[in-house]
Amino acid sequence: MKLGIVGLPNVGKSTLFNAITKAHAEAANYPFCTIDPNIGVVNVPDKRLDFLEKLYNSKKKVHASVEFLDIAGLVKGASQGEGLGNKFLSHIREAAAIVHTVRCFESKDVTHVMGVVDPLRDIEIIDTELILADIESVSKKLERLEKTVRLNDKKILVERELAIKVKTHLDAGNPARTLELSDDEKIILKAFFLITAKPVLYVCNIAESDLPAMENKYAKVVKEKSEKENALAISVCAKIEAELSELSESDQKTFLKDLGLECPGLNRLIRAGYDLLGLATFLTVGEDEVRAWTIKKGILSPQAAGVIHSDFERGFIRAEVMSFDDLFRFGSVKAVKEAGLLRSEGKEYLVEDGDIIEDSTQV
Ligand code: GDP
Repeated sequence: MKLGIVGLPNVGKSTLFNAITKAHAEAANYPFCTIDPNIGVVNVPDKRLDFLEKLYNSKKKVHASVEFLDIAGLVKGASQGEGLGNKFLSHIREAAAIVHTVRCFESKDVTHVMGVVDPLRDIEIIDTELILADIESVSKKLERLEKTVRLNDKKILVERELAIKVKTHLDAGNPARTLELSDDEKIILKAFFLITAKPVLYVCNIAESDLPAMENKYAKVVKEKSEKENALAISVCAKIEAELSELSESDQKTFLKDLGLECPGLNRLIRAGYDLLGLATFLTVGEDEVRAWTIKKGILSPQAAGVIHSDFERGFIRAEVMSFDDLFRFGSVKAVKEAGLLRSEGKEYLVEDGDIIEDSTQV
């Protein structure tokens, strides 16, 4: 599950990507990290792990991770396959969600490809290319469906109707993600593999002088836009993040304090990306390690156990579960147990974000 970083040239994508990978690089062996410089596997910051590490006196702390993909060079005309356009579109197709970086800072030293800073116009340029690429995909899909439609197959008729609906929406210049659909239609749409149906996080790259307020007139309009289309938006200053990522933890703290900030913007960005992907975390604890495991929101306990090991999914019967918040509140497993909040859950249990699945799932 990758997050693809897109945006016009010179908006700060690489600065942001490099800061993310430097500051949060996953230490585990992900060989492709070194092979493909455009993919960064990063730790998801999680304060819960710090608490658990201390409580259990654990030897090791393992974070959940998320992958970022730096998709540089999406320019006007990409959907026509101009230059390397097609290659970039295929990279975006690989991503499960899009991090759309938008320039919200003015600078005489950094040229803006379109002359002046105007985030809404910039977003539109990128969106237009993505919408055009999707129109092409849907048109091809429709052509294929038209060939088989005379078979009067109900499934094909439904698909065709949806394809027409989506194409009309795209033709009017709207991304597929803003189309109101039923749950059934949403499932069918997934198989259309449209770029503009992917969830979007706008990252407003603001100026250093906009800290610590984290706000400026440019970021404001992006936020308003994101609210209208059910997307997310956050502000960071890529330049500062890049500087922060070069510092030791203690120097970072001093620098952040000087800036009036609590934590690096990247932490918020990675967390928001994780949420955007519809991911949740469950935790395992022990002296050897405390660990955050990534699951899709809304899965049942056997599937969650399967994330640890496929044998666990097959052999799953029951698990001991408590919520992190209860453990945090009561301070010890014993106290949680006494309060009757350590539960024994079976196969039908929907795992929640922050669940601590004790020791083994094979209880
Ligand atoms: P990309 O083409 O979108 O990957 O953009 P880059 O990350 O290469 O950044 C383009 C230029 O903008 C570089 O010279 C950066 O140093 C500069 N830059 C990036 N972020 C900021 C920022 O937050 N403030 C300022 N003033 N400059 C920035």
